[in-house]
Amino acid sequence: MNKKGKLIVLSGFSGAGKGTLVKAMIQKYGYSLSVSATTRDPRPGEVDGRDYYFKSVEEFRNLIDYNGFIEWAQYVDNYYGTPRKFVEDELAAGRDVILEIEVRGAMNIKEQYPDAVLIFITTKDATTLHDRLKGRGSETDDVIAKRMSRAGEEADLISNYEYVVVNDDLDECVDTVHGIIESKKCELENQMDFVKEIRQELLDFYG
Ligand code: 5GP
Repeated sequence: MNKKGKLIVLSGFSGAGKGTLVKAMIQKYGYSLSVSATTRDPRPGEVDGRDYYFKSVEEFRNLIDYNGFIEWAQYVDNYYGTPRKFVEDELAAGRDVILEIEVRGAMNIKEQYPDAVLIFITTKDATTLHDRLKGRGSETDDVIAKRMSRAGEEADLISNYEYVVVNDDLDECVDTVHGIIESKKCELENQMDFVKEIRQELLDFYG
């Protein structure tokens, strides 16, 4: 029997290091990552199709109309969305897929995929968050201020997540998040098919 993959939603304040975390999880544990579409401009070094699919507002709206996203949201003046086909194909093929999306998108996913794992990634404090955003050097002070303010709003929604992980030491964070996902898979309700199978095998063992 082909087991469906698990959908993993990673959210966190902008600047909490989700991007680096996700890259490390792909490298170390082979997770599959959904590449989102966005209307924001590429940052230096970002590549179309690898970091995001960069779209015009018109292209993005077309994709919404054609049901091309499993979720989409507006975040600080831009649109972001998760392309439907990739995620559905990967899950059907039994691969675990990470979505790195903001809070409203995460809530939307939880409604559609109740057994998705929702994990919130944060820095250990607000100053560290501000320093990381500033250190990235890619955003103006105005955008940084908007992202800090949005982080304050997002903090109100953390209670909708199942897990909160502080990203202080990257390696530790990678292993903690992987551990959460693995233990989630072992929960009884996620193992019922296996339990039925092994029960039947045992009953049939001596024919
Ligand atoms: P950034 O501009 O820093 O790359 O992303 C801004 C925010 O948009 C981040 O919180 C990121 O997780 C979120 N985001 C990226 N892709 C998607 C998506 O497909 N859907 C939603 N809802 N949020 C996304």
